[in-house]
Amino acid sequence: MMSGISLPVRGVHIDCRAQMLRFDRIRTIFKDLVRWGYNAVLFEYEDHFPYSGRLKSIASGDALTHFQVKELDRIASDLGLQIIPLVQCLGHLAYVLRLQKFRRLSEGYPKTQPYAVCPADPGSRRLFREMAEQVIEAHPGCRYFHLGGDEVKLDPSCPRCRDVYGRASESEKLVSHYLDRADWMRSMGPDPILWGDLIFAHPEHRDRLRGHAIIMDWDYWSGTKPAPAPQVLWGMRYLPGIKPNDPKTWPPLSRKLFESAVFTEDGRKARPFPYSSFLHNEGQPFMVATAARCSGDSFCVPAQPLHSDNVVGGVRASLEQRALGYVITSWSVRRSPWPLTEHSLIAGSMALRHPGVSGKAIDRAFAREHFGVADASLGRIPGLLGAPAPAFLQSMPRSDLKTNQWLALSFDKRLEQSRKDIATSLRQLSALRRNCEVAKRLLGRARPRTAYQRERVTLWRWAIRVLSFYAEHGPLWLKGDKPAKSLTAMGPLVALTRRVLGRIYTDETVSEEIQTRFGSLADYLEGRAPRDGQVSG
Ligand SMILES: [Zn+2]
Repeated sequence: MMSGISLPVRGVHIDCRAQMLRFDRIRTIFKDLVRWGYNAVLFEYEDHFPYSGRLKSIASGDALTHFQVKELDRIASDLGLQIIPLVQCLGHLAYVLRLQKFRRLSEGYPKTQPYAVCPADPGSRRLFREMAEQVIEAHPGCRYFHLGGDEVKLDPSCPRCRDVYGRASESEKLVSHYLDRADWMRSMGPDPILWGDLIFAHPEHRDRLRGHAIIMDWDYWSGTKPAPAPQVLWGMRYLPGIKPNDPKTWPPLSRKLFESAVFTEDGRKARPFPYSSFLHNEGQPFMVATAARCSGDSFCVPAQPLHSDNVVGGVRASLEQRALGYVITSWSVRRSPWPLTEHSLIAGSMALRHPGVSGKAIDRAFAREHFGVADASLGRIPGLLGAPAPAFLQSMPRSDLKTNQWLALSFDKRLEQSRKDIATSLRQLSALRRNCEVAKRLLGRARPRTAYQRERVTLWRWAIRVLSFYAEHGPLWLKGDKPAKSLTAMGPLVALTRRVLGRIYTDETVSEEIQTRFGSLADYLEGRAPRDGQVSG
């Protein structure tokens, strides 16, 4: 196998949606990424770009300034890091559509929350072009531009769509919309990129995109080895009667196109990264995206063995299927602090150099980087703390349309979900308690020498304290108790969280960090009405 250094694009995603990094921190992260061998950043500003003119009200209070954005562009270019900006052309736009003056562009509104733009409304095209123009102006040399375009269900009864598209299929509507945005983007300079999920879910007209856009196959579940069953089958998951392991139950077109890419030759196992293999066979230019943080993670530490295996598997798939590039995404709504996601970033960087790299070598390199000792046993700490956890340890984020804050789903609803299988939740909590003890002992062997390492040790200690608190009190909450000692124990943790995360994130973000881990729980314990948002992330 070739070395991953031959991949033209080797990137990491910086997502400003729920967590806004301090400006200095972004600069430090850029330097770390370059040191690890990455050459690109997929930068998702959301409401943290200094939009101006008619778009001014989109920018939140802790948005970067125009000067800072230009400065980041300069720093990245000096470091040899290309910025790939991302502005969504379809969904994930609650931060814009929540505003009164743009709300009428929402697809399905008021039946559904403002989330996606109506693709047929000319105002949606104008909005996208204005946003993208301002972003391109800040990054004049950018080679690629990501148009997003994922996770949307169009409203079949939208009158504007009916006027423009008539009786066209979902695939036809989506592809026409993508082409409109992509061709304009190319006329501005950058090559457009699109997320792949909706194209795979509605594949009839995909061929029209050939030569117009690069598809980014996001797959956060595949690993390095074939799995007993397909992990992801776009567009089929919620159809009645679908059995992932039985292609005879799939829609005929999906079966015809994807069956041979999904299953191994003997038909007994599911191949990792099947859609990349499909795109390669179709001769369609594409990139691969994996994840360092995604849904299912606790709000302290990502589910580690899963992500590192996904990241390494993604590098191998990119090389085998000759992808144009490879990006590790990192979804901030899950809330693990950035440095605690670095095991996967280091795993990816090592796999790019040596695709056959072992887990032990990754653990050793990670321990040297974070703890100042090249001892693989310390590299187990992220895995111990990233063990599966009950739903109340996940953020289950919702955005508040009034304030544009990302808030955790109310604690009683998360508790309710954790009670659905109470035996599993209790078992997970007791495992977490033991893991915290082991991690604490291992951390005693850290020999941090630099400020960078001292900060990381402090953050791992913080994670152990927060997770131990949840592991100790969680069984009582599951039983329905609301003990006063939970509130007492929370006080010092709130202060610690403020101090530790305040060095990384803006004040606005830190207040959301506290709400996710403690505010929502305090509301529940004290019997206050919960504060949570409406639009799910
Ligand atoms: Zn519409």
